Amino acid sequence: MKLFEIIEAIEKVAPPSLQEDYDNSGLLVGSPQSEVKKALLTLDTTEAVVQEAIAEGCDLIITHHPIVFRGLKRLNGSNYVERVVMAAIKNNIAIYACHTNLDNVLKQGVNSKIAAKLGLSDVQILKPMQQALMKLTVFTPHTHADAVREALFAGGAGHVGNYDECSFNIHGQGTFRGGENTNPVIGKKGERTSLEEQRIEVLLPKNRFSQVMKSLRIAHPYEEIAYYSVDLNNAWQDAGSGLIGILENPVRGDLFPAFIKESLNAEVVRFTAPVAWVKKVAVCGGSGAFLIKNALQSGADAYITGDVKYHEFFDAENRMMICDPGHYETEQFTIELFAEILSEKFPNFATRFSHTYTNPIQYHY
Ligand SMILES: [Zn+2]
Repeated sequence: MKLFEIIEAIEKVAPPSLQEDYDNSGLLVGSPQSEVKKALLTLDTTEAVVQEAIAEGCDLIITHHPIVFRGLKRLNGSNYVERVVMAAIKNNIAIYACHTNLDNVLKQGVNSKIAAKLGLSDVQILKPMQQALMKLTVFTPHTHADAVREALFAGGAGHVGNYDECSFNIHGQGTFRGGENTNPVIGKKGERTSLEEQRIEVLLPKNRFSQVMKSLRIAHPYEEIAYYSVDLNNAWQDAGSGLIGILENPVRGDLFPAFIKESLNAEVVRFTAPVAWVKKVAVCGGSGAFLIKNALQSGADAYITGDVKYHEFFDAENRMMICDPGHYETEQFTIELFAEILSEKFPNFATRFSHTYTNPIQYHY
């Protein structure tokens, strides 16, 4: 199996364009053309994880947190980041990171995994992504409208919430005249052609634009495809930060921390004053204090995330429980996503969950 095939399968679920500006997801060590036989799946790439990869014959480490986050100016082993990279290169082990792009997807993302562990239903993105959608308008001969619509949908356009194949179509009259160096499919060059056309409008995420245009070019009959695109202000409901869902069976507020410990296999939960009952739950794996206000506005009874600071707990305003079971604890199931994506696409490719406990924080009772 070539490494780029593995990367393509993961990035189909979590496109790199969805990562945050500060992030460094992607192939950190290794060549996309190299042959890989076995992947070690981990949340963090520590030196112990690289040793585990060597011992288990893994030539690829798929990690949630990128080990290289800032610029590396030298590689002489003076800190753990340099030592991890050096050990990986020395032992021909590739390192691929899928971080905030996996945080930001609704389906098969970090937060949908947490929601599944808690048993949440009716899940939606808590803070949908802005400036990520566009509208494409295409003009096509009436006779080719079905094929063109098909191509637009196949390329990834026309999804709105839980609906797909969404388009708006207007029938009309188009005209054109080909110049000296043209070879029109319909009509003759130098003569004005008038024919029945359809104007097709579809929504699409910006990151699907090149794929949709590739698909459109194959289906559209014209030498010069007539289209225009505009950026939209609509929020994108399928991508963004955090997630909110419903507990079918509400849990009493005073019992909710124990419910989290059990569901997320956490040792300790820090939390604010219990509400009477918890039904609506917001979650964000990792460091999600930046979403406390969104959780509050969305009417969540509880918000589960990690890395919450003392003063941030006050922002619950006694209207919602903020529950912090830890950064590692909320994201530890992320490796299951990698396994699911790869086993679906390449059932024979070997993967192994890392047995190394990488959480740097320990608890004393
Ligand atoms: Zn994290």
